[in-house]
Amino acid sequence: MVKLTNVNKHFGSFQALKDINLAIPKGQVVIVVGPSGSGKSTLCRTINRLETIDEGGEIMIDGKELPAEGKDLAKLRAEVGMVFQSFNLFAHKSILDNVIMGPMKVRKMRKAEAKERAMELLRRVGVEAQANKMPAQLSGGQQQRVAIARALAMRPKVLLFDEPTSALDPEMVNEVLDVMTSLAKEGMTMVVVTHEMGFARKAGDRVVFMADGEIVEDTTPEDFFTNPQSDRAKDFLGKIL
Ligand code: ADP
Ligand code: MG
Repeated sequence: MVKLTNVNKHFGSFQALKDINLAIPKGQVVIVVGPSGSGKSTLCRTINRLETIDEGGEIMIDGKELPAEGKDLAKLRAEVGMVFQSFNLFAHKSILDNVIMGPMKVRKMRKAEAKERAMELLRRVGVEAQANKMPAQLSGGQQQRVAIARALAMRPKVLLFDEPTSALDPEMVNEVLDVMTSLAKEGMTMVVVTHEMGFARKAGDRVVFMADGEIVEDTTPEDFFTNPQSDRAKDFLGKIL
């Protein structure tokens, strides 16, 4: 479903991604962990083409190469949903409008249909009662669940989550992780940057450990957390455990 081949990313002379090769089959849940600055967000952003990659590398989504720009990019990007640490809802739009905008603009869905589907998704993440409120009227956990519903509204083939719970108060973390766990169980292909180990073990099929822009370990959650191989992984786990 997602295939990165020899992906490199420079910011000026600094190399943020070093020869990344990663193939994610349909339905797999990949947990990405690693120290701050190791390239986790850059990896997500390149998969979604929010960042360009260096020449020579390739990113395929469901067998198609992501175009660098243009109309096709908007369409293909719609197939890769992204949920950010900071929710990123449109502050001046209602919850419902946040969810219907993408499908109407990019998928050309009619408003009635977009609304119906949005309400169904808001129900699924447990915030349908908030549909007509503004984002600022919701708790962080509710806003993040809306962000997930908004991403799902585009019917993405892959969902990327970049530290989706790290901006939340502790009591709201589980309500977001529960929604993510049920998506994982339903077979959604997911890339999740998170240090929530309980979630990684319960919902993850695979852990990719990054350090200094490289993939250093790529194994099962159980194996990674109990039996890290590299010094960098051991050092990292020593700090978060
Ligand atoms: P992580 O998400 O693992 O904390 P990031 O992917 O955000 O790491 O960043 C990886 C490295 O790339 C960091 O050293 C960061 O400073 C650098 N970086 C990220 N985005 C940019 C940018 N737009 N310009 C320059 N350097 C960047
Ligand atoms: Mg990051």
